[in-house]
Amino acid sequence: MATVLSGSALPRIRELPPDLVDKIAAGEVVERPSSVVKELVENAVDAGAKRIAIVLEEGGRKLIRVTDDGHGIEPEQLLLAVKSHATSKLKAAEDLFAIQTLGFRGEALASIASVSQFRIASCARGARDGAELRVEGAVPAEVVPCGHPKGTSVEARSLFFNVPARRAFLKGARAELRHVEQEVERLALARFDLDLVLEHEGRTVLRAPPTDEPRERIAQIFSTELAESLVAVGPRGGRGVRLRGYASPLDRSRNDARQQLFFLNGRAVRDKVFLGALRAAYANLLPPRRQPSVFLWLDVPPDEVDVNVHPTKAEVRFLKASDVFALLQAALREAILSAGAAPPPLTLPRTPLPVVSQQEPGAPGALPPRSGGREGVGGSLAAPASVPDSPAMAPRGSGRFFQLHRRYIVEETERGFRLVDPHALHERLLYDQILARFASGGPLESQRLLFPLILEADRSELALLDERKPVLEALGFEIAGFGPTSLALHAAPRLVPPSALPELVREILGEPRPGEVPDEPGLDQAMARVGGTGARRLLHQVAAALACKAAVKFGASLSDPEIEALLRRRDEARAACCPHGRPTALAITLDELDRRFGR
Ligand code: ADP
Ligand code: MG
Repeated sequence: MATVLSGSALPRIRELPPDLVDKIAAGEVVERPSSVVKELVENAVDAGAKRIAIVLEEGGRKLIRVTDDGHGIEPEQLLLAVKSHATSKLKAAEDLFAIQTLGFRGEALASIASVSQFRIASCARGARDGAELRVEGAVPAEVVPCGHPKGTSVEARSLFFNVPARRAFLKGARAELRHVEQEVERLALARFDLDLVLEHEGRTVLRAPPTDEPRERIAQIFSTELAESLVAVGPRGGRGVRLRGYASPLDRSRNDARQQLFFLNGRAVRDKVFLGALRAAYANLLPPRRQPSVFLWLDVPPDEVDVNVHPTKAEVRFLKASDVFALLQAALREAILSAGAAPPPLTLPRTPLPVVSQQEPGAPGALPPRSGGREGVGGSLAAPASVPDSPAMAPRGSGRFFQLHRRYIVEETERGFRLVDPHALHERLLYDQILARFASGGPLESQRLLFPLILEADRSELALLDERKPVLEALGFEIAGFGPTSLALHAAPRLVPPSALPELVREILGEPRPGEVPDEPGLDQAMARVGGTGARRLLHQVAAALACKAAVKFGASLSDPEIEALLRRRDEARAACCPHGRPTALAITLDELDRRFGR
C-alpha cells in the first residue's frame, strides 16, 4: 500500500479500448467450446430452427460449426449481429421482465467473434441469396454474397487463438468433447422437438431425432433401460404453470448428480429451487451420498421468472419461489411414493406389526411396551413367540444367519449374502412405525415416571421446549419447564428405556437436524393438529431420536429369535437406510465373490 502511494505517479484511470472490453465480456460467456456450442444452438432455437447440426474438430478447439434451418439473417444485418449489445430479441426495458427467447443480451456472437477466427453465413427467409461475414480477432471484414441454404451457419475456428492465457486453460480434445456432449444432451432434453446431430472429426457422436415424448428423449440420450425405469412426475400445474418429468424409484440411485436435469421454459437450469425441492422430496429415502435421477420440465409465465441474474442463465429468480418449491416437491413426492411396486415397499401394512403386542385392543398398531427385556434390546424383538407367522413375512433366502462380532448380522441370500446393521435396520423400522402411528392420530404409548426426571436446561432450550411442546405431547411426552434453569420430564414414550431418557431429551431439544419426514397418508392432517408445517423437521428429529434410543444397540449380542424377528420385518422398511441416512444392509453376491477369487 505504502509503496504504491510513495511512488512517483499515482495510478491513472483510463477507459478500456473496445476490443479489450469485448475480450473481458467474452470471459463471461465463452469459457470453452461447450459454451460456444450452447450460445450458437440457443441462437438457432431462437431463430425457429428445427434441425441443428453441430460439427467439431479437436473437441471444438480447432473448429466449432453450428448450422441451422431457422429464419436466417439479412445481409445488411450481419454486421450488427456480431456487434456487442446488438440483439433482435429485446426492444424495450419491459421485455427484460418477460423474456420469451433463450438469448437477449446481444453479447454471444460479439464475444465469440472476439476470441476466434469467426465466420457467419446466412440466407434469410424469403431471400434468394445468402451472404457471409468473417471476423478475425474482433475485426470484421466485408459482407460478401455466398451460397447458403435457408438458415444460418456460424463457425468459430481456433478458439482463444488471440488469448493465450485462456487457450492454456482448455483441456484436451477428449475432455472438451465430453463437455460439448453434455451441453448438447442438455439442449436436446430442453427441447425434445428439435432434430439435433453432433459430429466430431467426421463421426456422429450424438443424434437426437425429434420426438414429442420426453421419455423417448431420455432413452435417446441415456438409455432405454433408464428411461423405462423412471416414474412419471406430474403433469401438474394450472394458471400458466405446467410441470412434468420423470424420477427414479427409490431402489435406483447413483453416485453422482449427473442425471438431475431441470428445464425451465425450454432452458436448462441448475437452480437452487429445483435442487432444494429435489433434496426435500428424497429426504431420508436414499442411502447417504446416493443421488436419484430426476428430469423435470417446468413452464411458468415469462413474467414470473427473472432469467437475467446469472451470466450463463443457469440460475434464475422466481417471483413465487416458495410456490414453485412446493409444487416441485409435492409432485416428486407423489411420484416416488406411488412407485409402490418397487422395493423397498413404500406403503406400510395397516395390520398390526409383529412387534406390536395387543395389550390394548382398542389401539391397533400401538407400539409395544418393553417387556422387561434385557437392557439395550427392544423387548419387542425378544418376544418372537407372539409374532404372527405369515408366509409373506418369512425371511428371504435360505434363512441361515449369524451375528458377526456382536455387530453385523450375516445372512445367506439366494444370490450370495447380506450384511445387516441391526441397529440401523431396527431404527428404520421403529421410525416408520412411529410416523405411521403419529399420522393415524394415535399417541404413542406413554409411561409415567415414578419421579419426574429433572434436567438442567438453558434459556434457549426452555424456549425451544415451549415451541416444540405440541409435537412432543402428541408423541407421548409430558415435559415442562421447572424453574428458570431446568425442566421436568413426567412421562415419555414407553418404547425408550429409562436410562436413555436424559440423552433423548437433549437430542429433541437440540439443534434441528437436516432432513424432514417423508410423506405419509394422514400426516399433513396430524401435523396440522399439532402446529402446522414447521413441525415436519421437528417431527423427523424427534422420531429419529426416539427410534435411535429405542433400537437395539450396535454392539449388543442378539439371540437367534431376536435376529429372526428383525430380519422377518425387513421388507416393511420404507427405505434402505436409517433415519440418519446410514445404510441398513449391504448385499454381496456370489458373482462378486467369484470375481474376486478369480473364478
Ligand atoms: P442474442 O442472442 O442475445 O440476441 P447474439 O449475439 O447471440 O445475441 O445474437 C445477436 C443477434 O443475431 C440475435 O439477436 C439474432 O437476431 C441474430 N442471430 C444470431 N444467431 C442467429 C441465427 N442462428 N439465426 C438467425 N439470427 C441469428
Ligand atoms: Mg444469443
